[in-house]
Amino acid sequence: MDEAGKRLQAIIDTMIDGVITIDTDGVIESVNPAAAKLFGFMQEEVVGQKINMLMPNPHKHKHDSYIENYLKTREPKIIGIGREVEGMRKDGSVFPIRLAVSEVRLKDKTIFTGIIHDLSTVKEAEASLKKLNDKLESLVNERTIELEEVINKLLKVNEQLEHEVSERKHTQEILLQREEQLQESLEKEMELGELKSRFVSMASHEFRTPLSTILSSAALLKRYTQAEHQTRRDKHIDRIQSSVANLTGILNDFLSLSKLEEGKVEVLMEELEIGELCAEVTDEVQGLLKDGQQIFHEDRTEGKKIRVDRRILKNILFNLLSNAIKYSGEQKPIHCQAELNEAGLIIMIKDQGIGIPEAEQKHLFSRFFRASNSLNIQGTGLGLDIVRQYLTLLDGSIEFESGEHLGSTFTVTIPQQHEKDSSNRRQ
Ligand code: ADP
Repeated sequence: MDEAGKRLQAIIDTMIDGVITIDTDGVIESVNPAAAKLFGFMQEEVVGQKINMLMPNPHKHKHDSYIENYLKTREPKIIGIGREVEGMRKDGSVFPIRLAVSEVRLKDKTIFTGIIHDLSTVKEAEASLKKLNDKLESLVNERTIELEEVINKLLKVNEQLEHEVSERKHTQEILLQREEQLQESLEKEMELGELKSRFVSMASHEFRTPLSTILSSAALLKRYTQAEHQTRRDKHIDRIQSSVANLTGILNDFLSLSKLEEGKVEVLMEELEIGELCAEVTDEVQGLLKDGQQIFHEDRTEGKKIRVDRRILKNILFNLLSNAIKYSGEQKPIHCQAELNEAGLIIMIKDQGIGIPEAEQKHLFSRFFRASNSLNIQGTGLGLDIVRQYLTLLDGSIEFESGEHLGSTFTVTIPQQHEKDSSNRRQ
């Protein structure tokens, strides 16, 4: 072997990759130490043997045909390309290799050189990398599932919390409502308490005059025993009667007010003729009329029926008419006029009495209010408040026009639903 040949041999002998040469029959001609070691053979054990001894099935049996095919067709499958294949060690174990085969044409024959690179470590690393990757993936999956569970739990907790919050809000609202109701009834209670105490002081004041009149008239009556005293007796009997009427009026006012305050006034709507009702009230107030006073009653409702609570409307009219009588002098006429129009039932009560001072008019419907020009006339300051409350129950309203010494006109409006009622009836 020349120098170059020796150098080449040394290179081949010390190569890390295995180098095997075979002839066209697949018989091994040479094996370098790395290849022998790779396959677990001694070099001399493989030289002269068929190359397929180093291959696992199915290549083991087909290898001869591989070379034949190649030589016939020249179509490279592995020769000149290099591929990843499997090798088989002496002990039968199979391992991955990268095989690059090249054809070497010598003067007298053709040989094939195979360079074998052991891929075991690379494959192992790949496998462990894959394993690691799989593990990581499954871990990620596990964590994803865990995370989903946690999220679901959180969502559930959130839902529960939302539910609790809304329930709490509801309870809070109920509590607030209760508190408001309590506050309201407390205020009402206080108002009633105040009303009662004001009434007591008003009553003790207002009761005193008629009671002392009754007392003195009764004492005088005792004295007038003679027949010729009849006129005087009559005068005192009249005084007693009017004082009793006064007291009854005060008591009635208070009774109405306390019923209204307690919400005990029931509204019972019925169809009635206003002319009849006005005549009834006019009759009832006759006893209050002063000398020469007269009530002129004008009914413009043409006998049409109206829907109203009879008792409540009577009370309203009685209050307004008795005020008109009370606050106007002898001989003064009082007009009571009723009509039906778009707004409903309108009743106007007009007097030519003392009137109400303009500056005080804004207080007119306040409880216990009494105008400065009426203080010497018996009264409680409750009547108009009662009228206002009654009208609220009927969805009605009251207005007035007045001036001191110019008389007063009170106008009551009670809405009517004739159209609606008749259409209902038609249906
Ligand atoms: P009372 O007549 O018992 O005092 P009201 O509430 O009916 O109570 O009336 C309140 C006040 O309004 C009266 O005290 C009076 O000053 C004034 N008033 C009511 N009606 C008339 C009227 N027709 N003319 C003049 N003043 C009136």
